[in-house]
Amino acid sequence: MTQTHFGFETVDEKEKAQRVAGVFSSVAQKYDVMNDLMSMGLHRLWKKFTIDLAAPRPGERVLDVAGGTADLSSAFVPRVGADGQVWLTDINNAMLAVCRDRLLDEGVMVPVAQCDAEKLPFPDNHFDIVTVAFGLRNMTHKDKALAEMRRVLRPGGRLLVLEFSKVWKPLEKAYDAYSFKLLPWLGGKIAGDAESYRYLAESIRMHPDQATLKALMEYAGLERVEVFNMTAGVVALHRGYKF
Ligand code: SAM
Repeated sequence: MTQTHFGFETVDEKEKAQRVAGVFSSVAQKYDVMNDLMSMGLHRLWKKFTIDLAAPRPGERVLDVAGGTADLSSAFVPRVGADGQVWLTDINNAMLAVCRDRLLDEGVMVPVAQCDAEKLPFPDNHFDIVTVAFGLRNMTHKDKALAEMRRVLRPGGRLLVLEFSKVWKPLEKAYDAYSFKLLPWLGGKIAGDAESYRYLAESIRMHPDQATLKALMEYAGLERVEVFNMTAGVVALHRGYKF
């Protein structure tokens, strides 16, 4: 049986999706507040930069893959206007329940599809923009997921991948202490689940660095791939085009 990583553990490929589902089902209710606490609000700036770099225009079609509680989707809606379209997909029911409540509270209409990013239920060449924020890390076959995202993009469309990445070397020690000590402690106190936040720290370390992810995107057929480091490489935004 083929094996893969779940954080620092080696697991059967078939087990990974279930373990990831366990994490997000457990943290869904506290997901938004934890994001603000863990990043001290920075995730809002990282996401704003992602939207700005996607440069949505009125009337465009956007797909937010692994959209979770809809931070990106709800920000895209006013940018594409009434003639545009924003779809959100995610594999996890608990995250989508929080997403639905939030969109209802905000009075924002976003069609949602529950699906695996490795098999997107959309036609070829359909979207102007595809985004995936902090989702790719959790996917079992990143190559398949990237190829699917490219497939549903129209020629000329852009893919934006926002993900944790390799931090600037002088900051590594401090970042390790923060991720392996403070994060699980905070997760235990606020979300009642230290383990899931230990997985978060481990999965970040196992995720491809900036150059490797760029190569993965190119291998999936994306072109003109650029990398934008944020917060000393804690996070990187990759943008590539389909031609
Ligand atoms: N994009 C949101 C954000 O930036 O706040 C949510 C990010 S959250 C860290 C990761 C999301 O990826 C979760 O909602 C999880 O359910 C979803 N996810 C994990 N594996 C997935 C897969 N194979 N296909 C689709 N979504 C997936």
